[in-house]
Amino acid sequence: MSIQEKRIYVDNAATTPVSDEVVKAMMPCFTELWGNPSSLHADGQSAKAVVDEARERIAKAIGCTPSEIYFTSCGSESDNWAIKGAALRMSKKGRNHIITSKIEHPAVLRTCEALEKQGFTVTYLGVDEDGIVSLEELKNVISDKTALVSIMYANNEVGTIQPIEEITEIAHKYGALMFTDAVQAVGNIDINLGELAVDMLALSGHKIHAPKGIGALFIRKGVVIESLIHGGGQESRKRAGTENLPYIVGLAKALELAKAELPDMKRVEALRDKLIEGLTAVPYSKLNGHRTKRLPGNVNVGFEYIEGESMLLWLDIAGICASTGSACSSASLDPSHVLLAMGVPHEKAHGSVRLSLSHENTEEDVDYIIEQLPAIVGKLRDMSPMWEDLIKQK
Ligand code: PLP
Repeated sequence: MSIQEKRIYVDNAATTPVSDEVVKAMMPCFTELWGNPSSLHADGQSAKAVVDEARERIAKAIGCTPSEIYFTSCGSESDNWAIKGAALRMSKKGRNHIITSKIEHPAVLRTCEALEKQGFTVTYLGVDEDGIVSLEELKNVISDKTALVSIMYANNEVGTIQPIEEITEIAHKYGALMFTDAVQAVGNIDINLGELAVDMLALSGHKIHAPKGIGALFIRKGVVIESLIHGGGQESRKRAGTENLPYIVGLAKALELAKAELPDMKRVEALRDKLIEGLTAVPYSKLNGHRTKRLPGNVNVGFEYIEGESMLLWLDIAGICASTGSACSSASLDPSHVLLAMGVPHEKAHGSVRLSLSHENTEEDVDYIIEQLPAIVGKLRDMSPMWEDLIKQK
């Protein structure tokens, strides 16, 4: 069977296509505005003005001040900096305990594991069957030795949105810093740092139609963390490295566009719900993640008696680009750590597929997926000896 020519991209949680307007905004930084923002001559100062303006636009989009935005190379770097930087700083005050959850992205989990090797104690909070962190467990484990609470805003696999405000309140009651990895949330949900009291927040460009290789860390005024990248005096002497001018401009443009598109997320949410309804109509299927407290574009459904990977190949042939979970762990055939933490049994976790929509998706896309995917599930089940046994038993 040949691969379908028309492609439907529903893997936006892995990465997004760079939008034309973002490319257009970046172009002058390659041709005219290529100076080093640290240079004192006019060419350098023009470049500096571009970085300053981008920082202002990003701050405006998420409700903070420009001096609270620090550019990084990606979401993973922002996560590493927030967690290691806070841990190192707070350990000077005798706080050596970190609280995170079992369903975080590897950029958070592996960072916490690295800190455990350096003597920090880490508590990995469990989640309920919808993927929501237990506030009761948090209250039981937090103490005046806790340096940092690091809980993601929204999960990259199942889309579940966490009660970040309540978690922040608990963290602050014990004098701990609060960090949220909002890589999947920014651009999909309205984030206003004037109202959300977190101390730090990570975001990444390639999830919001900017290029890969640019991210930012919000650090609230007055919050001090250690630096990880030492060198020149860029980013207020906190993160060295000559500024990635074109990508910084691309990030600012993408964030502004995403903010302007937010009202359209209601339409995306309706597409998501139609897709959930269509796919969970398949017998022996189940929605993974919370039904309503989820990202507007996230659909994650488990189908019993099939392997998610085989389904992806057939979906690809049908022109549908989807994923079984996190792009970062797609090289491994281990079941998703997120689904396991939610109590999904191994065999069911293996049969899950994630479809992540963006504002570029249409009703036509959704109708096509609802037509194709159940047929693929049926085809794969027909090849499964376990399915055959089930049919015989019936
Ligand atoms: N955090 C979450 C929740 C993510 O989904 C991702 C990427 O998939 C990252 C962090 C890492 O971001 P980046 O790819 O920019 O390093």
